[in-house]
Amino acid sequence: MKEHYRYSGLRQRLVGQLRQKGIKNEAVLAAIMRVPRHLFLERAFADWAYKDVAFPIDAEQTISQPYTVALQTTLLQLAKGEKVLEIGTGSGYQACVLAEMDVKVYTIERQEELFKKTVVRLDALGYGQVRTLYGDGYAGSPRFAPFDKIIVTAGAVNIPLTLCSQLRIGGMMVVPIGEDEASQQMKRITRVSETNFKTEDFGPCAFVPFLSGVNNM
Ligand code: SAH
Repeated sequence: MKEHYRYSGLRQRLVGQLRQKGIKNEAVLAAIMRVPRHLFLERAFADWAYKDVAFPIDAEQTISQPYTVALQTTLLQLAKGEKVLEIGTGSGYQACVLAEMDVKVYTIERQEELFKKTVVRLDALGYGQVRTLYGDGYAGSPRFAPFDKIIVTAGAVNIPLTLCSQLRIGGMMVVPIGEDEASQQMKRITRVSETNFKTEDFGPCAFVPFLSGVNNM
């Protein structure tokens, strides 16, 4: 129980820092307050969970910085009950923050080992309602499309067109785009009509690369 209070105190402090850095969406801050981020890192690094930094997880991947999670979640302008696709499940943390926003979450991961571990974690933490899919995120999920919102948590070189085509009209995708980590920009793409898309820019960011195909080594 002592542990529990300690971590909720640290989480409260993190939420305060996110507020100071300009995150104003109270629903997003409340969602971050509810997800125990320390349980998404190796136990030895639990104390790092509530610093506002990205952190290495398995398979040379990273759990996104809390500020980045808060920013992407805010930019999605979520409404209750929406269907949301995440590309890059990683640790599952961002998927759980989305689930706490009362939306239906589908999430795709290409690293098989990481995928398997994260499925177990989501179940253990009571987030079994998150639909986990193993595969190449570039293909999205034709089976569950169209989506109200899509969030890409890996850096793409070009706007992923297949994913654009899986947005409903009026839907939005938040995606980091750039040649490399140094030049990535957070973009929000809105599907205005069947064939028209609007792009907005939200400044620099740094994500691990959005890679093609799956990795089951
Ligand atoms: N959202 C994660 C952080 C993601 S790090 C979290 O909250 O922890 C980026 C993730 O994208 C990595 O796990 C990486 O394996 C995955 N990824 C990269 N390219 C992908 C692709 N084509 N399809 C699915 N996942 C991909």
